Amino acid sequence: MALDHGHGLDLQNDTVVNVVGLLKGQVGNTRSYALHLDAFPLDDELTAEGVSGEVRLTRLQDRILADVNARGRVELECVRCLRPYEQPFETAFTEEYRQMVDVRTGANIPAELVTDKDVADEVFEIDENHELDLGEALRQWIVLTLPMRADCGPDCPGPDVTEVGESEPVDERFAALSRLLDEDSAG
Ligand SMILES: [Zn+2]
Repeated sequence: MALDHGHGLDLQNDTVVNVVGLLKGQVGNTRSYALHLDAFPLDDELTAEGVSGEVRLTRLQDRILADVNARGRVELECVRCLRPYEQPFETAFTEEYRQMVDVRTGANIPAELVTDKDVADEVFEIDENHELDLGEALRQWIVLTLPMRADCGPDCPGPDVTEVGESEPVDERFAALSRLLDEDSAG
């Protein structure tokens, strides 16, 4: 099987790959890319930062298989102390990208070739310019790796209690302890 490694190709702050060369090649051909994203928005509030990974694309009959692994970090807010912290993540996934347009003729590929699997699952599409965008799949998979309960870790100071006003009555036992400590330090 002929392998085309796509010498030195990088995805630098970009998730779109032009796959026209791969689509013109034989089934089974692959290309590999290094992925680097300084900042990658996940939704209105969350952004993945320092994303690095590897992408391998494999030409199938009427689609391209994308094998992706990626790691990076996302700033989350700890549910206990409410402080922002950096949550590392790592994800690996495989997604299919269906070919919509014949790369030689430019003709639309008939809808009857759409398989039942496409209807059952969400299958991504290669657009009419033969561009494959990994962005949406990457976004979904990163979000899946994030913890349901964001927690800054074992050093979490816990809930911030400084907002409990000083006007609150001080527990007598603590007041006594406080006096003892004062005397101790004074003596
Ligand atoms: Zn915390």
